[in-house]
Order: sequence, then C-alpha cells, then structure tokens
Amino acid sequence: MPPELDVHDLVAAHGAEQVVFGVDEATGLRAIVALHSTVLGPGLGGTRFYPFRSEREALVDVLRLARGMTYKHAVAGNDLGGGKAVIIGDPRVDRSERLILAYGRFVDSLAGRYLTAEDVGTTQADMDLIRTVTPHVTGVSESLGGSGDPSPATAWGVFRAMHAVASNLWGDPSLEHRHVVVSGVGKVGLALAEYLHEAGALVTVSDVNAAAVAAAVERVGAAAIDAARAHMTECDVFAPCALGAVLNERTIPELRCRAVCGCANNQLDTADDGERLAAAGILYAPDFVVNGGGVINIAEEPKGYDHDRAWARIAEIEGTLSRVFEIAVTQGLTPAEAADHLAEARIAAAR
Ligand code: NAD
Repeated sequence: MPPELDVHDLVAAHGAEQVVFGVDEATGLRAIVALHSTVLGPGLGGTRFYPFRSEREALVDVLRLARGMTYKHAVAGNDLGGGKAVIIGDPRVDRSERLILAYGRFVDSLAGRYLTAEDVGTTQADMDLIRTVTPHVTGVSESLGGSGDPSPATAWGVFRAMHAVASNLWGDPSLEHRHVVVSGVGKVGLALAEYLHEAGALVTVSDVNAAAVAAAVERVGAAAIDAARAHMTECDVFAPCALGAVLNERTIPELRCRAVCGCANNQLDTADDGERLAAAGILYAPDFVVNGGGVINIAEEPKGYDHDRAWARIAEIEGTLSRVFEIAVTQGLTPAEAADHLAEARIAAAR
C-alpha cells in the first residue's frame, strides 16, 4: 500500500464505517466496497465499473458515493444503509464473465452487509450473472424475481416530486400547462417527459445525443433546444436529467426557471450553490430526495417484488419533498440543508 494513500484518514474524513478491498489475481479484479453507514440496514448501492486514474481516486469516489446512498435511503424511508462499490478498470476492455463472477464472490464474502446493484459501467446482465454466485444483489431481471431497470421508477418519483414543487409555488399540484425543460432524455429523462406530456405539461427537451432528442420529440411532441442553452430557457421547472454539477456559479445566474427538479445525481457543484439558488429566488428540489424512486423500487425486492406496492411507496416522494420545503422555511435553511437534516434525524433516531 503506497504510504500517500492514507486509507484510514480518508475513510474517517468521509465518516464511513468500513472499506473492503477485493483482489482476484486470476481475473485481474480490483474492487472496493465502502460502507458509509449501516445504522438503518445493510448498505445498498450500485457497482461503478470505471477506469479510475489511481487507487486513491477510486477510493475517494466510492466513499463519496456511499455517503450519498446513506442520505438517499434515509429520506426515502428505506431500511437500508449507505454502501457503494467500484471495480477499477475500463468495462469496454476489462469486462469478462470470469471477472464479474469473481466480483460476485467478493460481494458474497461480505455476507449481506453490502447489497450490490447496477451503476455506471455495469449492466442488468452483470447483476443477473452475479446472482448466480450470491443472493446479495438487487436490480436483477424480472424473470429472476427482480425489479428490473430502475429508470421508470426513478422517473415516476421525479414526476411526483414535481407535484410537490407545483403545490409549493402555485398552491396546486397540477402540472397542466406548466412549462418543463428536461435536459437529458436518456432512460429517466424520456420517461419523465412522457409522464409530463400525459399530465398536460408543455415539454421542451435537450440532449447532446441527437437521436435521443428525435425520439423524445416524436414520442411526446416536445419542442427541442440546444443542450448548452437548456438551462437558460424561460420555463416553470428546469429538470436536469443528465450530468452532475450543472448548478454552479456560472449557470445559476443564467437560469430562467422558478424551480429546479430533476433526476441527475449531485446537481449542486458546491454546497454554496444551494444558497445561490435560494438567493436567486429559485426553488431547489434536492436531487437525492427527488431521484430516490429507483432505490425505493429496489428496496421492495427482498420482500418479494410487487410493482403496485413499489409505485405507491415511490409516490410518497411528493410528501417527503413537501416536508423538506416546510423544514427549510421553519428552520431558515435551504432545501438542500433541510433534506440533510431530515436524513440525519432519521439515522439519529435509529441509532
Ligand atoms: P442515461 O445515460 O440513460 O441518460 C443520460 C442522457 O443525458 C443521455 O441521453 C445523454 O446523451 C444525455 N447527456 C449527456 N450529457 C448531456 C449534456 N451535457 N446535456 C444534455 N444531455 C446530456 O442516464 P439515466 O439513467 O437516464 O440517468 C440520468 C441521470 O440520473 C444520471 O445523473 C444518473 O446518475 C441519475 N440517476 C439515474 C437513476 C436511474 O434509475 N437510472 C436513478 C437515480 C439517479
């Protein structure tokens, strides 16, 4: 272990409980599982397969992501803790059936303290393969008793969250005739655009992928706008559904929306950006509250997956977000701070 890695210091700085390194010489597997908090239950979070430039970068990323999962599960009401895993490598080059199976055995060795799932660089087919060597995997195919791709569930949660935004801004949850700009019409963004269209909202879409824009325009009759200018569009709600850090010092003064509510993870570039949005009079719906539909759906798997029960639980995001807005007002916090408080209060009560 190179001395400059300072593993214990990094783990402590992120408030994590445990980090486990997995190595399999035969397949070249190098993986890390981070458990941030298991106070509410076993750590559940996806496996990111990514060509990190260094072990340190991989460790920092997995620690940061595991912490995010603790908060996401806590506000979602899941009896699950924050966990996340990374496989160091380029999935296009390094993926092999043997490596994924070796990774599955590594997950199995943690005996259920960590439950894995799909994330950037891993697929549902990987989860199905992992299921052959461990039960501690979620998001497997519906034919294997799983809940399948979480994206439709995430989109449903974002749609419900937008009703809370509408209630807060206009005293009415209806989205009819409201103009929503969906930036990024991939798996979640497109499904969200469909829900919005059905609800009578006016939808504008953008994406760096022209085919994705064309599909959205055809499916929901949406207007389209250049990806670089999407956040500058005058609208009621701006929905970031692509990358993180889209709300920053440069973009916030350019926003022309009343609220931001989308599925992208880590939308605020820095904690100060929550203050910047509030100062600009823009209602920010915290990302980890809004995009919890996917993990709520997955959390239903161990009980025996039931679509209607899962969808009903996801709809509760509307009430949770309203509560976040209420805490923000009564305690003089930004919505992002209020969401953190709500999560921390649930963990403290469980502790
Ligand atoms: P996806 O890859 O299917 O879609 C992302 C889309 O964004 C793609 O069409 C891509 O072309 C587009 N895009 C990339 N850069 C862009 C840019 N600069 N401007 C506009 N569009 C751009 O991913 P997804 O599963 O739909 O997830 C979208 C976001 O939501 C990600 O941040 C993801 O981490 C987050 N999220 C997803 C889920 C889920 O269930 N899939 C759950 C929680 C959070």
